[in-house]
Amino acid sequence: MKCPYCNNSDTKVIDSRPVEDGLAIRRRRECEKCKKRFTTFEKIENSLLVVVKNDGRRESFDRNKLINGLLKACEKTKITYEDVEKIAERIERALNNTMEKEIESKMIGALIMDELRNLDQVAYVRFASVYHKFTDVNTFVQEVNRLQEKDRVRPEERNEEK
Ligand SMILES: [Zn+2]
Repeated sequence: MKCPYCNNSDTKVIDSRPVEDGLAIRRRRECEKCKKRFTTFEKIENSLLVVVKNDGRRESFDRNKLINGLLKACEKTKITYEDVEKIAERIERALNNTMEKEIESKMIGALIMDELRNLDQVAYVRFASVYHKFTDVNTFVQEVNRLQEKDRVRPEERNEEK
C-alpha cells in the first residue's frame, strides 16, 4: 500500500479493526518514510470466491444466484425476502471465513440446509429435494425420514392402529 503523501511503498499497519459486521477491515497505516498516517478500507471481494460444481466446473460465486435459489425454496412459506437476504449474507460470510478461494458447491448446499432446517420445514425439504437430486438420493431419503420421525405420532398411538 503506497503512502498517499510521498508515494513511498513502505507503510506499516498500526491498527486494524473489522467493520460492516466483519465483512470489511479498516486499517490505520503509517508511512515509514514521512511518518504520516492514513486509513485504508479493505472489503472482501465476492469474485474471489470460486465455486467448484459437482461436475468439476468452476464459476465465480454469485450472491444473486444464491438468493434466487433460496427464494425458490422459500416460496409460499413464512420466510420473507429479508430473511433470505440475511441467510445469504450469513452463508457468504461463512464461505469467506473459510479463507478458501475455491468452495465446493456441496458445501454451500450444506450451509443452506443448515439454515433452512431450523427456519422452515417446507423450505428445507423443497431445497433438499432439488439439492440432493444432484448429489446423493440416499441422503435425501434419510433426511426426509428423519423429519417424519420427528412428527410421527407417539408409539402407543401407532400400536392402536395395528
Ligand atoms: Zn509517506
